[in-house]
Amino acid sequence: LYVESPLSAGLEFALPEDAARHVQVRRLQPGDDLRLFDGAGGEWLAKVTRMGKRDVDVRVDAHEAADRELPFDLEVALGMPTNERMDALIEKATELGVAAIQPLQTERSVLRLDGDRAARRVAHWQAVAVGASEQSGRTRVPVVAPVRSLGTWLAAQPDPAPHAGRFVMSTGSAPPLARAVSGVPAGRWLALSGPEGGLTADEEAAAAARGFTRVSLGGLILRADTAPLAWLAQMAVLLSS
Ligand code: SAM
Repeated sequence: LYVESPLSAGLEFALPEDAARHVQVRRLQPGDDLRLFDGAGGEWLAKVTRMGKRDVDVRVDAHEAADRELPFDLEVALGMPTNERMDALIEKATELGVAAIQPLQTERSVLRLDGDRAARRVAHWQAVAVGASEQSGRTRVPVVAPVRSLGTWLAAQPDPAPHAGRFVMSTGSAPPLARAVSGVPAGRWLALSGPEGGLTADEEAAAAARGFTRVSLGGLILRADTAPLAWLAQMAVLLSS
């Protein structure tokens, strides 16, 4: 179970609401073991010390260096597909080990979000990432960044890039991803992928001008919520072999 605040041996505390609900659903009892993680690496073994009606107290015992994370950071920025597809994408990308997700408003984005609605959506997506992290045994929770426009986001990309590679996923005639990845098995990698209607030629050109390499994931057209997942899966293989 994920706990946002830092954990340490001997710490006794009441689990946050979501985590407490999980423990209630699993019908754990005082004295039962559970595993917690705070995103700082590894897991903590803990024991339930008290079960209230809604609240659950635990005591943290020992740290375990269980690290199942990828040894590199894969970051995805994408033109938002519809709400429901975004939820599925965040869940699956988390399972595939994504480090960060940047939802973008692009010219052809189907989902249009701003202000409070955008903030509520991002909080919801972050909760989806927490749930998927717990489910898949991750020890880090991917960060879902606030919604930004593609233009603002591209302009804010640091130069020189902190990434080993930055790619824009293109359905046009672009070299295959495998040819663009040099096999450096570490560092940060970033992919920009389009919404249902794709990126416009101008948007692709703007990304290229910021140092993004145009790459293809194969000859078939993948849906907006499939392309980032295919990139994650291909990168995991390319950087591990
Ligand atoms: N008609 C649109 C086009 O041709 O660009 C389709 C867009 S596709 C549904 C959504 C996004 O997924 C694209 O903008 C692209 O970033 C990415 N994508 C889909 N298939 C891809 C492929 N085979 N290789 C690279 N990127 C792909």
